Amino acid sequence: MKRGIKYLIIMVVMIITIMNSYADGHILAFHRFGDDRYSSSNITLEDLNEIVDYLNENQYKVISLNEIIEKISKKEEISDKIMCITIDDAYKSFFDNGLEVLKRNNFPFTVFINTEAVDKNYTDYMTWKEIKEVSKYGEIGSHSYSHPHLTKIGNQKAMDDIQKSIEGIEKKINKKVKYFAYPYGEYNDEIKWMLKSIGMQGIFNQSLGAISGESDIFDLDRMAISNLSGLKWKLKIKYLKAHWMNVEREENYIKSIKVEIDKSIKKVQVYLSGYGWEKVDVENGIIEFKINKELRNARNRVIIKTYANEWSNKLMMKK
Ligand SMILES: [Zn+2]
Repeated sequence: MKRGIKYLIIMVVMIITIMNSYADGHILAFHRFGDDRYSSSNITLEDLNEIVDYLNENQYKVISLNEIIEKISKKEEISDKIMCITIDDAYKSFFDNGLEVLKRNNFPFTVFINTEAVDKNYTDYMTWKEIKEVSKYGEIGSHSYSHPHLTKIGNQKAMDDIQKSIEGIEKKINKKVKYFAYPYGEYNDEIKWMLKSIGMQGIFNQSLGAISGESDIFDLDRMAISNLSGLKWKLKIKYLKAHWMNVEREENYIKSIKVEIDKSIKKVQVYLSGYGWEKVDVENGIIEFKINKELRNARNRVIIKTYANEWSNKLMMKK
């Protein structure tokens, strides 16, 4: 009997280990490097080096956005050792501190640039000369012109702002801009559609999630990273294939959601920003959940998480 219990415990530990060790690929987002004046958007060089050592020691493979998008387009399986690195905002601290580390490790990367700050020589931002130098080693994407809250300024203004940035980058570095990352990670369906219509080949948000061959290349999850322990738990997040059939909303009140997921999943947890997680039963692959809550923040997320740690996100902007 005692032996039986021992085996049972070993089996449970093994299952938990397997569940935790297999995930999908991930895209990391960084902002400032070694700039201790800003704790929330900065990674210290000690933390960066610790992460780089961890990735190398654990055989992670850093690939470019071109490569991961090609894999997704072919619906290839994306291993949990695949990773992409992106950097937002064109801060000078990337040029001064971050670039060298990525170069030394042969890690490809993409920098998303908000071009007004560069055009107007704001302090703390790279110059065009520096960005040109960066573009020898990594790709340059757009992060808008003036870094606005895109969902708040009206569609025409949003479109003009985005296009001004893309044209500016293409003129200065003489390469086509293919990728866009939302300022503040804020977007809605109309902004996403707009970016697709002007030929963006990959769009990047800032929501916790993983990348699989079934990801939407126009809505790719990126995770902000500031230290190794944060990285470790975020790398365990897996991709959940979910079809968001309906989100019933009245102004800033969310009434209900209806989401289709795999029929084998019987229970999930649902999260709304400011309220926490709730256990929800799944009926024949359909999650029908009455949320009945008011949005509390400017940016809110509804997250569905399975017990195998697969995540799917929906961003809800307060109006
Ligand atoms: Zn930004």
